Amino acid sequence: MADPKGFMKIGKKPAGNRPVHERISDYSEVEQVLNSEDRKLQASRCMDCGIPFCHWGCPVDNLIPEWNDLLFQGDWKGASERLHSTNNFPEFTGRICPAPCEHSCVLNIGEEPVTIRENEAAIVEHAFAEGYIKPNPPQVRTGKKVAVIGSGPAGMAAADQLNKAGHTVTLFEKDEKIGGLLRFGIPDFKLNKHTIDRRLKIMMAEGLEIRTGVEVGRDISGKEILDSYDAVCLAIGAMQPRDLSLEGRELDGIHFAMDYLTQQNRVNNGVYVPYDNRITAEGRKVLVIGGGDTGSDCVGTAIRQGAESVTQIEILPKPPDKRADENPWPYYGKILKTSTSHEEGCQRRWSLSTLRFIGMQRRVTHVEVEVVTWEKMEGRFQMKAVPGTKSQIEADLILLAMGFVHPVHEGLLEELGVNLDMRKNVAVDGDLSTNIRKVFGTGDAVNGATLVVTAIASGRRAARKIDDYLLSSSK
Ligand SMILES: Cc1cc2nc3c(=O)[nH]c(=O)nc-3n(C[C@H](O)[C@H](O)[C@H](O)COP(=O)(O)OP(=O)(O)OC[C@H]3O[C@@H](n4cnc5c(N)ncnc54)[C@H](O)[C@@H]3O)c2cc1C
Ligand code: SF4
Repeated sequence: MADPKGFMKIGKKPAGNRPVHERISDYSEVEQVLNSEDRKLQASRCMDCGIPFCHWGCPVDNLIPEWNDLLFQGDWKGASERLHSTNNFPEFTGRICPAPCEHSCVLNIGEEPVTIRENEAAIVEHAFAEGYIKPNPPQVRTGKKVAVIGSGPAGMAAADQLNKAGHTVTLFEKDEKIGGLLRFGIPDFKLNKHTIDRRLKIMMAEGLEIRTGVEVGRDISGKEILDSYDAVCLAIGAMQPRDLSLEGRELDGIHFAMDYLTQQNRVNNGVYVPYDNRITAEGRKVLVIGGGDTGSDCVGTAIRQGAESVTQIEILPKPPDKRADENPWPYYGKILKTSTSHEEGCQRRWSLSTLRFIGMQRRVTHVEVEVVTWEKMEGRFQMKAVPGTKSQIEADLILLAMGFVHPVHEGLLEELGVNLDMRKNVAVDGDLSTNIRKVFGTGDAVNGATLVVTAIASGRRAARKIDDYLLSSSK
């Protein structure tokens, strides 16, 4: 136990963020770092409450009270080992996880949870700085070959686990670099891409083979992969964006959030994008449609690009500031979330439905919206337009950030004949096996768009099932 009275003596002290005026002129990470002594004191606030609700809240089952205790004692190496025993990439989750664990922390009953996510990031960064995280290749190879297709957090976690188990793993990625949405979706100001390269270097030194710029199902057929490998793991994400098929959708200046964010991430990485192809918010009145994390990332990016104004609209009502009675602790608190991007200057509006895009000379100039209400009928919320509330928002750059519907079906999934579930995701059984022999599924491709931590947990689970399959098939 960290310190039996730590939580009574020490208040919550988050590391805080860089000042707004400074951070909006670059793409460096917004969050600051706490000094080691303060970090240990923050760990001492964990009261090891007996039933670790935080552990229940964490999708990768992180052993939170255990590594908080080790951190408090100054055993950074031990804390890192304990952390890595359940999570392949704490440097990602430590930065960008929405920390459901903190919602479940007993101290969150008083709204002062342990800074679990920040402690996690501090442990892994300290471990990298001290050289505790080194390549540790498997001593024995099994002779089995596995292809992991898609290199987001699910594919990376599955590949890492399978490689550590001694299988020979090739990680295929259609983009030019490994990382999936970690690299090309999530902006640098939340997750700097050096963290991905640093981890990848270790994984490759441990024997992982990577093949980037290869779209399986196009550059190489699914059949060829099936013929060449003993098992295949589909970790292709849920990349099909939700569209708004409304009047005026064809106007210039309307883009999917992912096209916009991906381009800025590539530019930050030194890729040249010709001016005519640039999607930039510079000098524009930006409207982000969709109130979630992707929308918030568009807000932060648009502000850094020099937008004249940024507005974000959401069709759902504004969440409450405090938990509603039907959403008690230790469940994830459905409360208003204000991201660092929102703090940087953006107007947020709720309960607005988009009706049409209006333009002049082929470019969008306005969006017509209408206020809606949500009423519970027969157990389900139904949307109703409020008569007489139509209005127009002036905007000449529209970013569609309404989430993703399912994985892309064209190409690999169609070629292999993989069955889909009711939500058009990859259908798997309890062993994460698809209808095709030796083909498994993991991550957003199976679960729909979720979180990095859920993808890592799913990748680890897929690796376990594939390992079981390979061991049983070699008997
Ligand atoms: C803008 C944005 C911000 C987000 N922010 C957060 C956040 O702050 N915190 C959080 O927890 N989650 C966040 N998420 C969600 C999180 O990024 C995803 O849930 C997670 O990345 C899913 O992991 P995955 O490995 O299943 O898929 P992905 O990360 O989508 O990776 C799939 C990979 O498969 C590749 N691929 C697809 N088809 C093929 C093929 N045929 N051949 C080869 N490669 C292929 C793709 O190119 C891609 O690299 C965000 C998502 C977005 C879009
Ligand atoms: S991975 Fe997320 S939920 Fe789990 S301990 Fe870290 S911050 Fe909490």
